[in-house]
Amino acid sequence: MLYKKVNNKYVVRLNIGEDIVESVKKLAQEQHIRLGTVTGIGAVNKAEIGLFNTETREYHSTTLEEDMEIVSLAGNISEMNGEVYVHLHIALSNSEYNVKAGHLNMAVISATGELFIEVIDGHVDREFNEDIGLNLLKL
Ligand code: FE
Repeated sequence: MLYKKVNNKYVVRLNIGEDIVESVKKLAQEQHIRLGTVTGIGAVNKAEIGLFNTETREYHSTTLEEDMEIVSLAGNISEMNGEVYVHLHIALSNSEYNVKAGHLNMAVISATGELFIEVIDGHVDREFNEDIGLNLLKL
């Protein structure tokens, strides 16, 4: 991972074999980013994406293993229990130009990853919501 800070934004390049979720978390920890937005494009060859089932309140996930373009990576950085909390969603297209998308658990870069992270001055916590079964933004 290489990055350059420009004003309140980080321009990030991820390299082959790096996991997107881990990398964003590592950057936020290293640079003390407590709140921000994440966008990105690039290419991956392995990803685990999920969907939250609102009835069972469980995440169901699937692993994709093929060459895929990141059509859209979107998400945010916040905090929970004093730790960095990264929440990302992704849309990935394959060799047939079909898109699969969901909550991002992990994705491995196959060529390059180009992420832009905007830092928001401030901090927002998360807390587990019993009714919904998710860690919601505490506002
Ligand atoms: Fe999600």
